[in-house]
Amino acid sequence: MTTDRDLHAHLIGQQGSRADLNTPVLVLDVEVLDRNISAMAALIAAKGIALRPHAKTHKSVDIALRQIAAGAVGVCCAKIGEAEALNEGGVKGILITSPVAAPRAIQRLAALAGEAEGLMAVIDHPDVAARIDAALGAANARLDVIIDIDPGIARTGVASAEAAVALAKVISASPNLEYRGVQFYCGSQQHIESYADRRAAIVERTAYLQSVIAALADAGFAPAIVTGSGTGTHRIDLDLAVFTELQAGSYVFMDKQYLDCDLTGDDGEPPFEVSLCVDARVVSANHDGLVTIDAGYKSLSTDGGVAVVQRGAPETAFFAFMGDEHAALFAPGIGAQLAPGDPVSLTVPHCDPTVNLYDSYHLVQDDTLTDIWPVSARGRAR
Ligand code: PLP
Ligand code: MN
Repeated sequence: MTTDRDLHAHLIGQQGSRADLNTPVLVLDVEVLDRNISAMAALIAAKGIALRPHAKTHKSVDIALRQIAAGAVGVCCAKIGEAEALNEGGVKGILITSPVAAPRAIQRLAALAGEAEGLMAVIDHPDVAARIDAALGAANARLDVIIDIDPGIARTGVASAEAAVALAKVISASPNLEYRGVQFYCGSQQHIESYADRRAAIVERTAYLQSVIAALADAGFAPAIVTGSGTGTHRIDLDLAVFTELQAGSYVFMDKQYLDCDLTGDDGEPPFEVSLCVDARVVSANHDGLVTIDAGYKSLSTDGGVAVVQRGAPETAFFAFMGDEHAALFAPGIGAQLAPGDPVSLTVPHCDPTVNLYDSYHLVQDDTLTDIWPVSARGRAR
């Protein structure tokens, strides 16, 4: 079987020009990536708290290790499969941020707990706590756990302060579980475009979080770790100073959805640059007002609107999906300006699900291909 690592070893011989790459291809500007990693690390270090960036964004051992080298205490993973893949690559300090509830997943969690340094996982139900505790007992392992608190979207997390206290009691009475703190991830606030509106929503949600923390503290379960936040609310959360660590993920790449948000409240330049692109090519140009490119639903996520042209075509060109394999770029005269084979770079609508469509990142520095990194946890949704 050819592993990602074998593929990587094979492909890395092929340094060359970005313009020569077969398309569609996921392209990562490594200098911009490093600037984004450093910018977030510096911001968080200045506040004296920890950064545990979410690796669901990139699913990459290479990027996780770069974030840790820049000061991150570890990374977050969405699923057990993602955590296994990153652990295999030597990533330590993994927090699994979605409840692990399926029987086989619990067995794998117990096995991983025995070998992964600094592993933690969230729990949101006493019955699941009991099952994980039993699996850990059978595997002769222990696990640090975090109580997931529902921020009001009814996706995951305990639904009240009372439920949080009740779960903390169950965890502390479980011989193989160690209670470490709470998670509060306000997913539906991250992309509120106006900073003022986003801030108002987070101030209100943080008051609720503080009430849950107070109830836990009263019951003798003051959380050592308070983890959450994302790229959309990181500045607000830093300012409110309730979290002990932040989980922002998308800042490493940026995407169209986040470019549409004012992340700093000053309507200025975004604090992070776009490091990720999908490079596509014109494959048909037989009409004056549109060209067809080779990137469709299979090459760009479809949940976050549409891609925008970064270069190679007018930036005002209007993008429209044309099926699994194709999209159109509309602009006056574009069919005469571009010819079949011409490259077009696109800023992706939503980075996380787009990355999961590719086996590898093609790294560029200026316009030279310098390396190929596997999307280590691609498809590891279970
Ligand atoms: N934490 C959790 C639990 C998430 O689900 C996500 C993303 O969905 C993040 C952190 C990172 O958020 P973002 O990619 O917006 O920075
Ligand atoms: Mn996302």
